[in-house]
Amino acid sequence: MKKIAIFTGAGISKESGIPTFRDSDGLWEKYDPNLVSTLSAWNENPGLVLEFFNARVRQYSKCEPNVAHIALAKLEEKYNVTVVTQNVDTLHEKGGSSKVIHIHGNITQSKSSENSNLIYPLTGDIKIGDKCEFGSQLRHNVVLFEENMPEKEFQESIKAMEEADILIVVGTSLAVFPAANLISCFNYLESPLYIINPEECRFPKARKRRFIKEKATIGVPRIVDELMK
Ligand code: NAD
Repeated sequence: MKKIAIFTGAGISKESGIPTFRDSDGLWEKYDPNLVSTLSAWNENPGLVLEFFNARVRQYSKCEPNVAHIALAKLEEKYNVTVVTQNVDTLHEKGGSSKVIHIHGNITQSKSSENSNLIYPLTGDIKIGDKCEFGSQLRHNVVLFEENMPEKEFQESIKAMEEADILIVVGTSLAVFPAANLISCFNYLESPLYIINPEECRFPKARKRRFIKEKATIGVPRIVDELMK
């Protein structure tokens, strides 16, 4: 079975009703990321960071996977597929994908603020004073700016990129590092690379590169249909 790696960002979930960060109607137009989504913000005002992510959880829980998430899952009928996502929502899983690596965390979980390996299912809003079993404050299981990606997921993603015969990149500005560097682990000089994004963006020059300048819900099913033939 050929291997496909899929690398996704906020754009794939936009048509499910989850705003991206950097588009003109994105979240960073409304919130200052320095105040709500950095490690410094967590250290200085954890209550505000919790409030921001509690609101995201409530918003994301109402969202359903769209035809792009669902089409990508269909590829598993013919390929060995690994989804590497920067998204903290779980729409790939809800859309049917069975192997999803969350390199920036999973907002439906909480974790200890002292030990990132202590992860729990989320049971509702996290408040100041909510503690893990060993007594440290809980926070959402998301990677904040100024933090590293989780090592296990990072290594698994490198492997998925290195081993892939085909790479599909959907809905990412490739502006967040080191996540964006992951695609350089794919053999893009030789193997087919598909990029689906309604806007022009920074991508490696590749011989077999195909840029589909479309929204995810149009571009992804089109490419999946081709690959399933
Ligand atoms: P980004 O906001 O930097 O970029 C979004 C990209 O999506 C842009 O290139 C834009 O042109 C493209 N896009 C917009 N509408 C689209 C559509 N309908 N179909 C396909 N593409 C579309 O997002 P990023 O590159 O993922 O990086 C931002 C970080 O924000 C990530 O680390 C991610 O964890 C986080 N984030 C996650 C979610 C989520 O979980 N759904 C939402 C917002 C941000």
